Amino acid sequence: MKIAVIGTGYVGLVTGTCFANKGHDVICVDVIEEKIQKINEGTVPIFEEGLDEMLKDVVSKKKLKATLNMKEAITNSELIYICVGTPSKEDGAFDYVYLKDAAQKIGEVIKELDEYKVIVVKSTCSPGTTMNLVKPILEETSQKTAGKDFGLGMNPEFLREGVAIKDFLNPDRIVVGGIDEKSQEIITKSYEGFESPFLNVDPTTAEMIKIASNSFLAMKISFINEIANIAEKIGSDIQDIAKGIGMDDRISIRFLRAGLGYGGSCFPKDIQALHRQSVEMGVPSDLLKATMKVNEAQPLRAAEILIEEMDDRSLENRKIGVLGLAFKPDTDDVREAVSITLIEYLLERGAKVFATDPIAIKNFREILNHENLTLTSKVEDVLTDSDACILVTEWKEYLNLSPSTFKELMKIPLVIDGRRSLDAEKFRNEEITFKSIGLGR
Ligand code: NAD
Repeated sequence: MKIAVIGTGYVGLVTGTCFANKGHDVICVDVIEEKIQKINEGTVPIFEEGLDEMLKDVVSKKKLKATLNMKEAITNSELIYICVGTPSKEDGAFDYVYLKDAAQKIGEVIKELDEYKVIVVKSTCSPGTTMNLVKPILEETSQKTAGKDFGLGMNPEFLREGVAIKDFLNPDRIVVGGIDEKSQEIITKSYEGFESPFLNVDPTTAEMIKIASNSFLAMKISFINEIANIAEKIGSDIQDIAKGIGMDDRISIRFLRAGLGYGGSCFPKDIQALHRQSVEMGVPSDLLKATMKVNEAQPLRAAEILIEEMDDRSLENRKIGVLGLAFKPDTDDVREAVSITLIEYLLERGAKVFATDPIAIKNFREILNHENLTLTSKVEDVLTDSDACILVTEWKEYLNLSPSTFKELMKIPLVIDGRRSLDAEKFRNEEITFKSIGLGR
């Protein structure tokens, strides 16, 4: 099939590259010229495991190209996936500025064309957005009718950064929310050869499935974090508790790892937007509200543990090492990362923070700059002469560090594991003070 993908971020570029890998002819569109150039050279503008190789391959086989020219892309495609960003606005609702812009430009192009096209919203949005925002914009600008002159649908994306290719190619389910049978069929055809189960629903249901799924996973994280805080007080280890809970296959162990809370470009904004919508509709969700409240406080648990361990209960002029900035390992994405909240808090309390990350330093620098914050690619710089160190992102390279390295380099051997990923016993055997979220003994 001939497919256009609008927006070449984490979702758009993975979508385009994987569809091209499956044999479709893909044209990617973005508004950033530098991205277009890089993609056409076969270079990935973001970090995503395996994407580099696959992109090089499909570009060299001429199965994928990128352009700034929306008209060219749409004219040459029968199916158009919209993958632009839908960030949060100040008030918590999704910001549809990019979605509206993309819909308007698509409408302007299809106005001039006779061929039938199907437009698919893949961007995450509030239930009702495809029908009440995208459809009217497309119809108004194209002077055509959805369901008659062009097809329309919503096909949420569930990929996780870091394992995006695997997730895209082997999703747990493919939710197709076409407005009619023809749209449904054409969207489904683009997934020919995928072995995942399909679920056919209407666009609004598809939108709800996406944000309710993310909200549920976020809720699981906040639930286990709240239980972890209680476990600390009762002297139990949350790992054992989570294992015991997760062995119940109605619950499952996944997303039951206690830590500093969830971050990233999806969970925080999706749950916020759904909560806001619930309030606006007069059915305010207490569960969503509580999930967000727990998550806001959670990154500061590490700071609280840290302060409790300081002899003068002060962080003033203390050198605090931070391992990891990305919102999770294997990505350079720092959007809504808990590292931001935690580091800001430490700086406010007068600490001198030395932080590192294998690939996210550049992105982090764009978000936070402070005279007392040193960002370095060297773990030794972070640990040397530090008064404490906090593991914030569980990158493999940090988990492989030997406890003796911490002992040798740090001024005060105090390690706080914010991700329940280090072996407490090994650290304690080195006479390192080892503290962790939900570790009550
Ligand atoms: P992103 O910010 O990384 O990328 C969006 C891209 O769209 C950017 O390159 C931007 O330049 C481009 N763009 C903006 N306006 C445009 C326009 N009018 N025409 C062409 N290009 C335009 O966003 P992302 O992380 O890829 O997320 C995209 C959507 O997918 C969001 O709604 C997000 O919630 C959802 N989503 C993200 C993930 C994830 O893990 N990142 C997973 C599932 C769903």
